[in-house]
Amino acid sequence: MYKKFGIEDNLIEHSKNVEKEIEPIFKEIDQVCEYNSLKVLQAFQNNKISDMHFNQTTGYGYGDVGRDTCEKVFAEVLGAEDALVRGQFISGTHALTVALFAFLRPGDTMLSITGKPYDTLDEVIGIVENPSSLKSFGVNFEKIELVNNEFDYEAIEKRLKEGKVNLIEIQRSKGYSTRKSITLDKLEKVIKHIRNVDKDVIIMIDNCYCEFVNTEEPLEVGADVIVGSLIKNLGGGIAPNGAYIAGRRDLVNLASERLTAPGEGKEVGPSLGITKLILQGLFMAPSVVASSLKTAVFASKMLEELGFDVEPKFDDKRADIVQTINFNDKNKLIKYCQGIQMGSPIDSNSIPEPWDMPGYTDQVIMAAGAFTQGSSIELSCDGPIRPPYTAFMQGGLTYEYGKLGVLKAVQNMIG
Ligand SMILES: *Cc1c(COP(=O)(O)O)cnc(C)c1O
Repeated sequence: MYKKFGIEDNLIEHSKNVEKEIEPIFKEIDQVCEYNSLKVLQAFQNNKISDMHFNQTTGYGYGDVGRDTCEKVFAEVLGAEDALVRGQFISGTHALTVALFAFLRPGDTMLSITGKPYDTLDEVIGIVENPSSLKSFGVNFEKIELVNNEFDYEAIEKRLKEGKVNLIEIQRSKGYSTRKSITLDKLEKVIKHIRNVDKDVIIMIDNCYCEFVNTEEPLEVGADVIVGSLIKNLGGGIAPNGAYIAGRRDLVNLASERLTAPGEGKEVGPSLGITKLILQGLFMAPSVVASSLKTAVFASKMLEELGFDVEPKFDDKRADIVQTINFNDKNKLIKYCQGIQMGSPIDSNSIPEPWDMPGYTDQVIMAAGAFTQGSSIELSCDGPIRPPYTAFMQGGLTYEYGKLGVLKAVQNMIG
């Protein structure tokens, strides 16, 4: 069958050897998947999910039992006091924006301790001028860079002692940078350190791409609030859109009053019939995240053996589902991404080209042959067109489809 996809014999042989070597890693991924599946099932049972929760509301969405119970399930799974899980969030960026505008006030200071946040937050924060940015409302932004992929403990402590910081943002996934993603161990350590110096600062985690990669989530190691997208890990490839904010009850409440209106908060917001899909997505998510991880591990080993610089290495401890490959060559990056598209179920015969995406500074090429527009829990690959010409690949609803996508991309690149 692989030959029908234009994959040559030598590449198939090579992939067989790779699969033998990565077997022990797959076993570990399966164990995490098993644990997280039980965690999800328990939350469904504890909250007595039944057919009636698949109800839908329209209009204001008052008294939406399904929506409210679904949020309780998410809260339990994430170790949160409360959660806001809504289709009214357009994306992860929107949820992060709502959270930041909900928690910060004029004169407040936001401090990122993982360097510059994700590209789409540039205009939200005001790093790039925008009349609706946090900066335009008088919110200050500061950042501390990671040093050799570690938190700069000294600089963080010094800054916290110097003057009031209201919110610390920690972005776990690397975004479009070449740094490593933040593992839960590192997160736990830095949170303890912050708490020793400052008991009050809000610790907010951009948790995009990290859910269910480990058996614990950031709230369980001391974070106050986490934010993520439902067209990434927790949506399990089934949620049609949406995002979540989970954590301390008071913070979730503040966020809800910013998403809807002060005084209305969580009480409104019609589910419009998507609660069943959100719950079903959460139910599938541990297994889908496991498939994405296996696809990433397979790609990592394949491309490392072909001489490319990959991060993480196949046997590294992972914090997220993202695999980066440095091609150091613009054309190879483009060919690889185009190959991912060719291996997709949807739009396999359209060829992606680099373009000026809203919210991003460099041109970006994006391969996404997904059922849900922009969904990156489905196999997808993108790269900003700038040295070292790095592909950021993630997703894979099943390992089999993920593997085919990677093989097709490699074949297309090597010609
Ligand atoms: C995907 C992502 C976001 C949000 O992106 P959307 O495309 O708006 O959902 C934010 N931060 C990180 C680290 C991400 O990976």
